[in-house]
Amino acid sequence: MKLPLALLFIVTYVTAKDIDKENAPWMNINLSPSQRARLLMSHMTGEEKRSMLYGTGDALSTQKYVGGVPGIPRLHMPPLKYNDGPQGFRDNAMPGSTTAWPSGLTVAASWDTTTMENWGAAMGKEFFDKGANVQLGPGVCVARVPKNGRNFEYLSGEDPHLGYILVQPVIDAIQGQQIVANAKHYVNNNQETNRHFVSENVDERTRFEMYYPPFKGAIEAGVGSIMCSYNKINHVWSCENNSTLLTDLKIRMGFKGYVMSDWGATHSLSIEQGLDQEMPLNKSFNQISLKTVPEHIIDDSVVRILTPFFSVGTFDNPNSNQISNNVTSLEHVEIARKLSENSTILLKNEEQVLPLLKHNLQIAVVGTQAWNPVVHGGGSGEVVPAWVKPPLWSLCDMLNVDRVDGTTSGSYNCNAGNNNCVTYYNSSTNPPPNTLKYDVIILFVETTSSEGHDRTNLTFSPEQEEMLSKWSGLTGKNLKKVLIMSTPGAVLTPWSDDIDSILLNFMPGQAMGDAITNVIFGDVNPSGKLPLTFPNKENEQLMTESQYPGLDNAGNATYTEGFFFGYRWYDKHKVTPKYSFGHGLSYTTFSYGKILINGRTVSCDITNTGKVNGAEVVQIYVGFGNNQKFGSEHRDEPVKQLKGFEKYYLNPTETVTATFTLTDRDLSYWNIDSKQWSLKVGKAVIFFGSSSTDIRGTGVMNVE
Ligand code: BGC
Repeated sequence: MKLPLALLFIVTYVTAKDIDKENAPWMNINLSPSQRARLLMSHMTGEEKRSMLYGTGDALSTQKYVGGVPGIPRLHMPPLKYNDGPQGFRDNAMPGSTTAWPSGLTVAASWDTTTMENWGAAMGKEFFDKGANVQLGPGVCVARVPKNGRNFEYLSGEDPHLGYILVQPVIDAIQGQQIVANAKHYVNNNQETNRHFVSENVDERTRFEMYYPPFKGAIEAGVGSIMCSYNKINHVWSCENNSTLLTDLKIRMGFKGYVMSDWGATHSLSIEQGLDQEMPLNKSFNQISLKTVPEHIIDDSVVRILTPFFSVGTFDNPNSNQISNNVTSLEHVEIARKLSENSTILLKNEEQVLPLLKHNLQIAVVGTQAWNPVVHGGGSGEVVPAWVKPPLWSLCDMLNVDRVDGTTSGSYNCNAGNNNCVTYYNSSTNPPPNTLKYDVIILFVETTSSEGHDRTNLTFSPEQEEMLSKWSGLTGKNLKKVLIMSTPGAVLTPWSDDIDSILLNFMPGQAMGDAITNVIFGDVNPSGKLPLTFPNKENEQLMTESQYPGLDNAGNATYTEGFFFGYRWYDKHKVTPKYSFGHGLSYTTFSYGKILINGRTVSCDITNTGKVNGAEVVQIYVGFGNNQKFGSEHRDEPVKQLKGFEKYYLNPTETVTATFTLTDRDLSYWNIDSKQWSLKVGKAVIFFGSSSTDIRGTGVMNVE
């Protein structure tokens, strides 16, 4: 129906005139966020609505955020400011003004929802204090390829259920700080090689069971925004992929927030395919006009964009903070330390060499990482800290020895209290002839990775590998060797037999020095578990070029492995990995009682049988066996899949009954015929254990 010209004028005049904030109907806090968003949208002119659908250069150039949309003052809508990244606020203009937190993969190693919550809340607070409205994180992709350069950013490790559970407290906590969270990168952004054109070809059931669950967890936690990725999925660009965005994300998974593009990831005006907002500029959405896109589609996107900001409080309590604020603090560095401590993994501890005693100790500290540590990965997720305390200093402080100020040469010494002596050697120093006088050699190594590139291999730099072979080969009657590894994901450790104890802290953030020292000396008992498998050799899962990085000049990466990557591959092929998914030791020991199954409930007593307080992550896996016909497809099922875990803190002799109740979803498959989850009716094998290969009890559950 066409409106007469005079009436059109009146409508435009009424909608466009200024409205007092107090009287604006969308400022009524008794209405729901989506009702308020609808009301605000209904008062916008066509031009105002369109201005919500793409970023402007203003946020980037004048305000120094990485993106955003302008406000609409006459409607009391503040500008919306977006910033990276998933492990803290990246401030290129004022590096050092925010805290460099441990990365997503790192905190995932805690397997602890409280740690995740503390991480999210602390990051969200810094975003708010920097005047932002959106945190471009957390990253939640599932690690399919061990060499993926962005694995360090992602909190799912290699398991969809781990990501599904861990993302939820993070979203809650970020959004609890009045910051809209952003789960990224949707979806199958599993390699950096050719990320701007690779097509990740993956079937529907595999997408739903292996790659969507962390996004589903974010949706269940009420995430406001999701970022579509650079790659294609099944030959269609992610940000214009009707089937992954509209059908799967918005309809089947029920996502009510908005989809924003990764920076420059658009190739067309794809609002009808499910993209709501183009970032950072209007490369493709500048074609938008009410003539080319039905108005209800635009309205839907505008409401999706506005609703989360009403939910987190952006309208009721506009963020007046400035990006120039210095928002890091000693208190936050302490939180960063605790997060790293909770996430440190003890991979190996022969003859309980760790924890070290704090007296009568002659230590050689070896490796430049002890002096000038790498604590983060690179790219848009990198946060530059004001200062990183060298782990060497932390060790000297712990041993109550005087620090002698800085040197990078091999002559750094601290001597003093309790008959301790610490001598530092950088990575290129050969072991001196008197090495055997030491009680302990602590070797520090690092390798890092960055957005934009996959790692070329899973080893350390040639210089560090040489250092490892020279120093780890030393033997002496009482000489102990301890290794501290900081890595962005899996690494190869062929020399590990020559090392007594290995600690892994992934990308530990700026408080690495004090955190690792507290673990080395037992002030903190390590309780992290591996969120991904450590292989014995490069490409142990025998991925073909067609799988990774892809054929046709890497234009097609095809997921023919289906479910079988990570521990699912190792189980299926009966290969023992170097360190298993879920593995992590403690300075105490835990015994597991008999596994009891009652209907859908599985329980088992866990007792701390050692001498110190400690925490155990109890894991429950479920398997259904080979060649199962679920729906119209015959497919091998993984031997086991993680379906529950809980971290228990126990004093010596204390027992807890670990109880899990499996849900329908835990026991279902994605039915490609009915397009919904269907129960796997039959017998399920239940595995109860301390890692994916350290299974302490099994039982059978009838699924009906
Ligand atoms: C990255 C995103 C990031 C964006 C903005 C892109 O290159 O993939 O993760 O949020 O840049 O900096």
